[in-house]
Amino acid sequence: MLLYSLFKQLTSPQKKTQNIAVERENNYFRDSSFKAKLVGKILDTASLKVRLTVGIAGVAALGMGGLAVWTSMRMQHILVSTNKENMKYIATRFPQDVKIYSEMIPLEEGAKRAIASLSTTDKLIWIKDAEGNITAKSQTLNTPEIGDTLLAVQNVPLIPQVQDLHGSYWLMCATPLQVNGINLGQLYLAHNITRDQVMFLNLMRSLAAATIIAIATMTAIIAFYIDRSMQPLKKISQLTATISADKLDQARISLEQAPSEVKELAETVDGMLIRLSDSWGHQRELLSNVSHELRTPLTIISGYIQSILRRSDNLSEMQTEALKTAASEADRTVQLLQDLLDLARLDSDRMQFQLEPIILNDLLHEVVGMAKQYSARIITLDLKPDIIAIKADSHRLKQVLLNLIDNAVKYSEPATPITLKLNRENDRAIIQLCDRGVGIPLQQQGRIFERFFRVDESRNRAGGTGLGLSIVKTLVEGMAGNITVRSQLNEGSTFTLSFPAQ
Ligand code: ADP
Repeated sequence: MLLYSLFKQLTSPQKKTQNIAVERENNYFRDSSFKAKLVGKILDTASLKVRLTVGIAGVAALGMGGLAVWTSMRMQHILVSTNKENMKYIATRFPQDVKIYSEMIPLEEGAKRAIASLSTTDKLIWIKDAEGNITAKSQTLNTPEIGDTLLAVQNVPLIPQVQDLHGSYWLMCATPLQVNGINLGQLYLAHNITRDQVMFLNLMRSLAAATIIAIATMTAIIAFYIDRSMQPLKKISQLTATISADKLDQARISLEQAPSEVKELAETVDGMLIRLSDSWGHQRELLSNVSHELRTPLTIISGYIQSILRRSDNLSEMQTEALKTAASEADRTVQLLQDLLDLARLDSDRMQFQLEPIILNDLLHEVVGMAKQYSARIITLDLKPDIIAIKADSHRLKQVLLNLIDNAVKYSEPATPITLKLNRENDRAIIQLCDRGVGIPLQQQGRIFERFFRVDESRNRAGGTGLGLSIVKTLVEGMAGNITVRSQLNEGSTFTLSFPAQ
């Protein structure tokens, strides 16, 4: 804090950099886009895209499947009913033929003649008497494989029905046979429809395959179409994810070729961004004005207390102690106000960097010299003989390094060493500040650069605002560098700054 305050006196307050990205917001968006990618890889059943695709494809599949089933049933019906008519015709004509023949020859002979005249190789007829003996049959039924199969069929229905007999399909029916009032038994009719049925089954298979392919293709087309329709929404999500608090005034969602509903949504979001930007701007201005107005009287108060402490030798011990506490609290508050002012300037882009080539070897010597003047701690400088230069704002870089040294002093025991190292790695200049202090727990290392974040109030006995590292990070990034931390509890911490080397 002391070193940092010293630096504040040395540097002009209005030089500062570009914007400060609100780290917590960025982390949130980074996390959520990562999550979205991960979930996108597996099937996200909660997504509108998947739900719409499944819904539409399901309805389409139901429709097409239903149509295919209905078509197959219709075709089967047409195939069977044509042949049924034929069989009905034979069943009605047969007794009449037998009757005609029986006028010239005995009844049994007449039946055989009628069978012979009405049978073909595909249409077979036979008669069974009341005892179940076959009294007459078509010639083809003498062929063992056909005869054995057909004549063995029991419970032949009255209405023609398709029978699957070991791979061959027959339309069969049986009807009582009476001629001239004499009961001749049962008349059996069988029509071989194997060729038509096989053709029909093949057709059904092709129809099923075509339906499945059509459903799959349709699902793919629907998914593609829905995905395309969702693009404007995805774009809105991507654009809003990149908006940080400091860019609210420039952030606008412009979608040229989006559907009108999505355009309306984008316009609503734009309106909200404008309102947010205005209110953010007012807040920043208020913060900056309040900090500025409070800092001056507090600095004066602190100055008066210091001068009383220096000049009055008639103060009691208790009065001296009280004044020292008041002075230290006033200093702490002035520091907090200064940090807030810095942040307000960073947020409103009012901080400009004076970038110039800097020889880091010299700058580190200077910083260590400044630190030594105001702290009893020994700071070791570990430099290689080669000269390393970068382009940076020397005042801001000193502010960064003094802030880090200040923390190293605060969070380590006086007897432990603090080392400042300079190296070159490929085309980067690497500055490292190592201490052997209390360290930072792993799960909190990612958060120490957030505004107002302090690891554990109980161990921060040296005081602080929780703003130092967030300002440091913004300054470093404003000079095209980056800062990382490696730390182990009770072992120490190493802060690494990396800049493009010249
Ligand atoms: P503060 O004003 O509290 O020092 P900073 O932003 O500088 O705020 O640091 C944030 C927190 O990070 C500190 O409260 C402290 O707990 C932790 N921290 C920073 N530097 C160190 C360090 N060198 N060793 C251990 N902890 C540190």
